[in-house]
Amino acid sequence: MTTHPQIPAPTSTAPWTRTARGANLLGSDGRLGITIFEEVTALAQQHAAINLGQGFPDEDGPREILDAARAAIADGANQYAPGQGLAVLRHAIAAHQERFYGLAVDPHTEVIVSTGATESIAAAILAFAGPGDEVLTFEPFYDSYGAVIGLSGATHTTAPLRAPHFQPEAADLEAAFSERTRIVVVNNPHNPTGSVLGRPALELIVRLAERFGAIIVTDEVYEHLTFGVRHLPVATLPGAAGRTLTISSAGKTFSVTGWKVGWLSGPADLVAQVRTVKTFLTYTSGTPFQGAVTLGLGLPDAFFSSAAATLGKKRDLLGEGLRAAGFDVFEPEGTFFTMVDAAPLGIDDATDLARRLPELIGVAAIPVAMFCHEEGAERTRSMLRFAFCKKFDVIEEGARRLGTLRGRL
Ligand code: PMP
Ligand code: GLN
Repeated sequence: MTTHPQIPAPTSTAPWTRTARGANLLGSDGRLGITIFEEVTALAQQHAAINLGQGFPDEDGPREILDAARAAIADGANQYAPGQGLAVLRHAIAAHQERFYGLAVDPHTEVIVSTGATESIAAAILAFAGPGDEVLTFEPFYDSYGAVIGLSGATHTTAPLRAPHFQPEAADLEAAFSERTRIVVVNNPHNPTGSVLGRPALELIVRLAERFGAIIVTDEVYEHLTFGVRHLPVATLPGAAGRTLTISSAGKTFSVTGWKVGWLSGPADLVAQVRTVKTFLTYTSGTPFQGAVTLGLGLPDAFFSSAAATLGKKRDLLGEGLRAAGFDVFEPEGTFFTMVDAAPLGIDDATDLARRLPELIGVAAIPVAMFCHEEGAERTRSMLRFAFCKKFDVIEEGARRLGTLRGRL
C-alpha cells in the first residue's frame, strides 16, 4: 500500500517568516507558506481593518473591457487559447510596445501571454537558471522572485536599494554581478519602494549584463503607473534588446488583478525557451480575459494618462496622512505603494507593528523586511509599505485612523 505524506493545511496564523527567502517555502514549523500579502489581508479581514497592505485596487477598471470579458464568455470563448496566447492579444502587445516605446516586437515569435506576470517571471527564471547559477535581484524584492529562484535551485544574490531614493548604486551593482550571474531581474517601477529607475542605473545594469553574459528579466507591471516621470523600458537601451525579456500584466494597468493576464516579450530564441516552461506550468491562460485585455491595450492615450493622474492624487492624499501621523515618508514616483519609516514614532520593529496595526487602529500595512534577506531586513527593520490603490474616501479614513496611532503606541 502506498502511504501519502500528510500535507499540512495553509494557515493564516503561521508565524511571519520571510517566505520570500529562496527555497524556504515551508514555514519553519513545516506548514505551507502563504504570501505575506495573503497573511496581511486575512488579518485585515479578521479585524475589519482598512487594507492598505495587499496591492489590489478596490474599484473596477474600464467598463468596456469588463463588458468585453462578459461578451467573450457569452460568445463561447471558453475553451483553451493557444499556448502562446490569442493572436489578437499578441498583436495588441506588440502594437503597445511600438506605440509607447518604439520597440519592434514580432507577435508571432517574440511574445507570449502568461497567467499573470507571475507566471512569466517563474517561467523565465526556471528556463534559464539552475543549481550553480546566480540570479541577481534588487533588495527589497517582490516575494515571488525569491520563491522561484529557490525552486530553480539557483543562488539568489541581491543589490540593495537604499533609502531615501532607492536607486541602485554603481558600486553595489558592480559588487553583486559575478561570472555566475545568469539572470539579473530588474523591477521597474519598483515594488515595494515606489522608485522609478533612472537611465544611468539601467544603462549600468545593461553593461554589466553584457560583461557577465547575463539575461535581463525585467518586471515592468507598473509601467503606466508613474507620477511625473517617464517609464524607461530596459529593452529600449543600447545593447539591451538581444538579452532582455520584458514582462508586464493587465492587472495593474486596467485594475483587473484577478484576471491574471500577463505577458512577456523579447528575442525569439529566449522567448521560445520560456514558452516551453510555460507550457508545462499552465499550458495556456484565461481565454475570455485575453480578448478583453486586447481591447484595453488599444485604449486611447488619455485612458493611460488619466489612470496615472488619479493614482498620483491618491498617492498625495495618503502621503499627507502618513506625514501627519508622524511617519517619515519616501515619496514614490510610481507603483501602488508608499514606503515609510516608523522610527520617528519610536518604532524599531515594523514587523511587530504591522502585526498589531489592524487591531490597534483598524489599518493594515506590509512590513518591508518581508521583501528582504537578513541584511536587507535589518536595513528596513522600521519600514512599512502602504498601498494607495484604494478609493479616495477609503484612503481618507485610513489616514484619519493612522492619525490616532501616536496616542495608542
Ligand atoms: N511583479 C510585481 C512587481 C508585482 O507587484 C506584482 C503584483 N501585482 C506582480 C509581479 C504580479 O503580477 P500578476 O498579478 O500579473 O501576476
Ligand atoms: N503585487 C501585490 C502586492 O505587492 C500583491 C500580489 C499578491 O498578493 N501576491 O501587494
